Amino acid sequence: MARITLDHLAHAYKANPRNAEDYALKEINHVWSQGGAYALLGPSGCGKTTLLNIISGLVRPTRGRVLFDELDVTDLSTESRNIAQVFQFPVVYDTMTVRENLAFPLKNRNVPRDRTARRVEEIASLLDLTRVLDRKASNLTADMKQKISLGRGLVRPDVAAILFDEPLTVIDPHLKWQLRSTLKEIHRALDITMIYVTHDQTEALTFADKVVVMHDGAVVQTGTPEELFERPAHTFVGHFIGSPGMNILPCRVEGSTAFVGNTMISLRRVYRTLSDGEHIELGIRPEFVRLQPKGAGLPVQVRRIDDIGRARIARVEMNGRSLAASVPDGISIEGREASLVLDPKHVHIYANGHLVAGEANGGQTS
Ligand code: ADP
Ligand code: MG
Repeated sequence: MARITLDHLAHAYKANPRNAEDYALKEINHVWSQGGAYALLGPSGCGKTTLLNIISGLVRPTRGRVLFDELDVTDLSTESRNIAQVFQFPVVYDTMTVRENLAFPLKNRNVPRDRTARRVEEIASLLDLTRVLDRKASNLTADMKQKISLGRGLVRPDVAAILFDEPLTVIDPHLKWQLRSTLKEIHRALDITMIYVTHDQTEALTFADKVVVMHDGAVVQTGTPEELFERPAHTFVGHFIGSPGMNILPCRVEGSTAFVGNTMISLRRVYRTLSDGEHIELGIRPEFVRLQPKGAGLPVQVRRIDDIGRARIARVEMNGRSLAASVPDGISIEGREASLVLDPKHVHIYANGHLVAGEANGGQTS
């Protein structure tokens, strides 16, 4: 078991990388605490698998170091890192039985036979594989095979960390829910660092205590699900997390006032003078924007109203830009013209995509 440190890590698949675009991973500095349940979340192609393979040793980074506690493992083989990795698609030995497949990682490490047998039974029961233990893996469905792969990842209780790379991709949706909570239970029971890669925010937010969001080869924010929701550090996080995601509007900011077109929006914080060269945007989640009959507020055209069970969400348009807002109970809008009223507590200001902290009205920075 270990704390894993990524120190000035960067990776380019091409030789002689010159500029930022040549890197699949831009510089990353990150610490994964011992025993944490992490999700590594980001869209396809952002570098998640590359990062996981660097931690496990399948890929050697172009620059930087990987440390397990104080030990530099950058040049150590996968085997000597003592990591378990579960891939997107099943990796099983077809000619072996399920029992033999599950026992394999333990047999490889000369774990005594009785302990191996007990552990295999335990894992099989967690994953509901007990009744197929003596069947050959070759005749099983993709679901089942992936459960065996998961079992092989989980069977050794002494690993430094377990890495899951989109492990539920081939699993049937109904079973997904169940396996996700099984993994969470196993994490609680084992106190092992787990890093769970996914492009699915629901999967990330339900599995993890801490979510690491990646975008375009870089980590853009690490936080609890609440932090990612409440205070997205980057417009990408605001947009990617949440359903629908955060509304992002170009604006101009003077002190504690934002101007969106001709509409003035008062802010809770005071902002430094943001220079002309910076791309300034205002971000607010649909949960904190109210649709109102035409009047004070941002003028918009209503396109439709969706009933999503817990709330009604209006899809509106402003200068060709799509936005989403909450529809308060009892509100009726005649025609397409309406206004949006923003809750100033939940308005964030971004410069070139990054959150600008601003100062509390009264002077102190926070
Ligand atoms: P993710 O797992 O988030 O989908 P990857 O880590 O697989 O992302 O890929 C990140 C980037 O690196 C992508 O642009 C991908 O095309 C590129 N890449 C991945 N593996 C290789 C490889 N073996 N050789 C060259 N480029 C690669
Ligand atoms: Mg991947």
